[in-house]
Amino acid sequence: MESQTRKIIQASLDALLEDKNFLPELQDEKRKQAFTSLTAILSTPNHVHKSFLRIALEDGRVVRMPAFRVQHNNSLGPYKGGIRFHESVNESEVINLASLMTLKNALHDVPFGGGKGGIVLDPRDYSVAELYLIAKKYVQYFNDILGPDKDIPAPDVGSGEREMDWMMAEYKSIRRGEPYRGSFTGKSVVSGGSLGRREATGKGVYFTFKYMIYDFLKVQKTLLTKTDNIFAKTLLAYGERPLTMAVQGFGNVGSVCALEAYQCDQVQNKVIAVSDRNVTLYNSSGLDIPALIHFTAKNRGDLPTTEEQLAASGVEAEIRPREDVLTLNVDVLTLAALEDQIHLDNMDIIKAKIIVEGANAPITEEADKFLSDKGVIIIPDILANAGGVIVSYFEWLQGRETQFYTEEQVFKLLADKMQKTMDMILPQFFGDPFPLRQNCYIHSVMKLSTVLYTQGKLY
Ligand code: GLU
Repeated sequence: MESQTRKIIQASLDALLEDKNFLPELQDEKRKQAFTSLTAILSTPNHVHKSFLRIALEDGRVVRMPAFRVQHNNSLGPYKGGIRFHESVNESEVINLASLMTLKNALHDVPFGGGKGGIVLDPRDYSVAELYLIAKKYVQYFNDILGPDKDIPAPDVGSGEREMDWMMAEYKSIRRGEPYRGSFTGKSVVSGGSLGRREATGKGVYFTFKYMIYDFLKVQKTLLTKTDNIFAKTLLAYGERPLTMAVQGFGNVGSVCALEAYQCDQVQNKVIAVSDRNVTLYNSSGLDIPALIHFTAKNRGDLPTTEEQLAASGVEAEIRPREDVLTLNVDVLTLAALEDQIHLDNMDIIKAKIIVEGANAPITEEADKFLSDKGVIIIPDILANAGGVIVSYFEWLQGRETQFYTEEQVFKLLADKMQKTMDMILPQFFGDPFPLRQNCYIHSVMKLSTVLYTQGKLY
C-alpha cells in the first residue's frame, strides 16, 4: 500500500520533469536538483508518531493499543486528516493515507497539509465507556503535536462526531486557555461542528460523478466527439442517460452517496446493489435506499442479512455474498468501503465502465492500470472523496469566525469548490492519454513544487 502511493507519486513526478510548466525559470541542472529535493520531500512523511495507549477495560484487563499520527507534509498549511479506528490499521497504511491527504488538499486548493491517524482496534469490541477512554487517551498521548494551526484530526473509518467531540473536549481541558475550536473537525453541531459535515463526503462523491457525466459532457460534447481519447469514448457512450449503480460499503460515505443517487430524479439513476461487511443486496429494478438507511440505523449499522430482516425492513432484494457487489453487471461502481478491494485476482471480472472511489485507495496499482487501459473511467479518491475535508475546512473557518453557515450555504460552497477543481482537471484529462488519477496527482505535485520552491525548500 505504502509503496503503491509512492509509485504513483513517483510516476507523477517523472511526468512533471517533462512538463514545461515545472519551474520554467530554472536551468536544466538546477531543475533536476529541485526535482530530486521534491521527490525526497514527497515520498517520505515529515513525522511518524507512534504510541501504545494503555487502557484499563471494564473486565479488569489492561491492554496496550498501538496508535499512530503521521504528519506527511505541511507546506500548504497545518497537517489535516482523519483518525481511523480499525483492527487493520498499521504504520505503512497510515503513512500512505497521510500522503493521499497532502495530495487531496493540494488538488482542491484547501489550505492544509496532509496527516492521518489510526488506532488498532475493532470498535465493536468495546463499550461506549471504553471507547471514551480510548479517545481521551489518544489526545493525552498526542496533544503536543496537535492543534488548530498544527495538525487537525477528523473522523475516518470507525470514528465519527462522537469521538471528535470527546477528543476536542479532552484537548480543551489539557491545553487550557489555548484556541481549541479548530483542533478537531467533524464534531457534532452542538460542539461547534458544521452543518452538512456528516453528509459531505458521500454528497461530494455523487456530485463528482454527476458533474462529469452530465454537466461537463453537455458543455464539452463537441470537443469530446473530436478526440480519440478512450476515456472520452466511454463518457460519450455512458453519459446523459440513466445508469445502474452498485455501491460497495453502506457506512457514512456509501449510504449518503446511494441516497443521493436514489433521490436524483433529474437523471433517474438506479442503485441496484449495495453491500456491507456481511452481504450484498440486489434488485435489478432498484433498491429502496431510504428504507435501508432506516433499517441500518436501528441495526448497529448493518444491512439486513436474513429474509426475516429484509421483510422487517420492507425492502425487496436478493441476498447475495458480500463480494458480489464488485462483479455485477452495472454501469457504475462506487467503492465506499476500504482499500485494496479491486486487485489482481478480481480485476478481470469487473464489468462497470465508470468506477468512483469514495474510499481511499480502493484499487491496487495493477488493477488500476488494467482497468484504465480498457478505457474504464476511474474517478480517483483524491478527486471524488474530498467533500469531507473540504467541509472540515469550512468547519475550521466557522470556528475561527464563530459565525456559522446554514446547511444550504455549506452545500453550495462544497459544490462550487468541487466544480472548480473539475473544471480545471477534466478538459486536461480528456485531452491527453493519462488516466484521471495521474492528472490529479500531477496537478497536486505541481502546486506543491511551486510552493516549496517559492519558500526556498527545493535546493
Ligand atoms: N477522513 C476523511 C478523508 O479521508 C476526512 C479528513 C478530514 O476531514 O480532515 O478525507
